[in-house]
Amino acid sequence: MNVAETDLDEGPRDFIRDIVRSDLAAGRVETVVTRFPPEPNGYLHIGHAKSICLNFGVGRGFGGRCHMRFDDTNPTKEEHEYIDSIQEDVRWLGFDWGEHLYFASDHFERLYEWGRHLIRNGDAYVDDLAASEIREYRGTLTEPGTDSPYRDRPVDESLDLFARMRAGEFPDGARVLRARIDMASGNINMRDPVLYRILHAEHPRTGTDWCIYPTYDFAHGQSDAIEGVTHSLCTLEFEDHRPLYDWLIERLPVPYVPKQYEFARLNLTYTIMSKRALIRLVREGHVRGWDDPRMPTLSGMRRRGIPPEAIRDFIGRIGVAKADNLVDVAMLEHCIRDRLNKRAPRRMGVLDPLKVVIENYPEGEGEVLEAVNNPEDPEAGTRAVPFGREIFIERADFMKDPPRKFFRLAPGREVRLRYAYFITCTDVIEDASGEVVELRCTYDPDTRGGNSPDGRKVKGTLHWVSAAHAVAAEIHLYDRLFTRSDMSASGDFVADLNPQSVTVLEGCRVEPEVRNTAGGTVIQFERQGYFCVDPDSTEDNLVFNRTIGLRDTWAKIQSAEGGSGP
Ligand code: ATP
Ligand code: MG
Repeated sequence: MNVAETDLDEGPRDFIRDIVRSDLAAGRVETVVTRFPPEPNGYLHIGHAKSICLNFGVGRGFGGRCHMRFDDTNPTKEEHEYIDSIQEDVRWLGFDWGEHLYFASDHFERLYEWGRHLIRNGDAYVDDLAASEIREYRGTLTEPGTDSPYRDRPVDESLDLFARMRAGEFPDGARVLRARIDMASGNINMRDPVLYRILHAEHPRTGTDWCIYPTYDFAHGQSDAIEGVTHSLCTLEFEDHRPLYDWLIERLPVPYVPKQYEFARLNLTYTIMSKRALIRLVREGHVRGWDDPRMPTLSGMRRRGIPPEAIRDFIGRIGVAKADNLVDVAMLEHCIRDRLNKRAPRRMGVLDPLKVVIENYPEGEGEVLEAVNNPEDPEAGTRAVPFGREIFIERADFMKDPPRKFFRLAPGREVRLRYAYFITCTDVIEDASGEVVELRCTYDPDTRGGNSPDGRKVKGTLHWVSAAHAVAAEIHLYDRLFTRSDMSASGDFVADLNPQSVTVLEGCRVEPEVRNTAGGTVIQFERQGYFCVDPDSTEDNLVFNRTIGLRDTWAKIQSAEGGSGP
């Protein structure tokens, strides 16, 4: 479904949407305005998708809008690359902010003015304590903090020092601007929080115009107010910042009074979601980059072939609540399979090829058979699959001495080649070490299309490719990046990396039709899973990423629990 079709769909019921609905009904809000406010210090991950779907979903679902806002207040960690990738990823996920693209840095001049406003009213002061001293003076959860000796410095002196901080007279860390609230507050965020710090760093957008930068707490709520954001939705860790958010809004001449609401972050099993950790994986080379298909980043998921619709479906199913929890990654995988099963064209590909010569098939001849593109979607039609005397089958589909429950090919046994013929294995050719290198078979010409002419049954149906027509491919199989289920629990995540998270298979053989796969299309190699062409593919080296295998563990969990959906 196109996202546009879901416009003005209020979405599932949750406490945020209930608040918005009642604000609209009571006339407290006229047009709903939300924002997605990433800091451009890394690539977006699946956790951000929850915030994106919620903010854009609420903004548009209630006939309002959602802004794209960059919280770019820390130039030492922020880069253009991230600003660009974030926009690309939000669009890919299916959302559009129209002309409403904002940067906290657009407001630096006004925020500076508001810093002066607070000083003038005795609500802020310039503090000369060093960062370590500020930390010491702050106190702890059980002990109140101590006033800074600079807390009562005259307004004029603070105004003068603040101007000179801006003018670049002082080195990094020499002074800060602090709100003057309450050093004994039970909420540590209210113990005279820092509003501005000195950072002689080049900013991706304002260059060297500034050497003082507002903190998140000072920029965030004020940016919301400037943009007229009605519902400022953020994750639970900001709950304790809300009193400060409100305190600042009350004391500043803001054009609008926004309200902040908090919801629980998304945590997924076997997945790490902190940008800091993800940056480390990239920098230390544990993965090939931000878009490595094993990464929980949106760019990694895109490269892996995961459709944005599956991510939106997943986010819709987990809902929005106020209690932190850990979601089983199998549920995301279920949504991916569900989507791909309906859409992915079926193809045949052999990952570990074993050559088969069909001895009674005329040499030098061939034919074209018809194969169904997608049994789930009759409109997907059929395609031509070439067949000939020599084919490849999956090595694992043959056993010389099969156990009782092995229903595939074995000496003397007959099986069906999907869409082709019944074949019977007549001879096994091995090399000096006893490894099977080739099979000799015969086929029954009366079983064309894989149909039995006389009601004769075979137990196995194998996929295959014609040796003369097959295209060579390299296939990358992925497993979970981490071996520990609860990665949010403490521990060194590098020690929990799965050493087998990627397997590269060379010399795979796939049917020629895959050459016509449009970029971004995910196909199903029958019996193997879903695959997409990696952008690193070249004319001579076709590379596939396995998006996901076929086995659905979530469906199993659900049916074991009595079949109720999530
Ligand atoms: P990280 O911890 O990954 O660095 P962050 O919160 O610092 O994330 P921001 O760029 O500040 O990253 O996030 C932008 C928005 O996305 C914020 O409103 C934040 O609350 C939200 N967000 C981040 N992670 C998650 C998550 N796991 N689940 C839901 N929302 C999230
Ligand atoms: Mg953050």
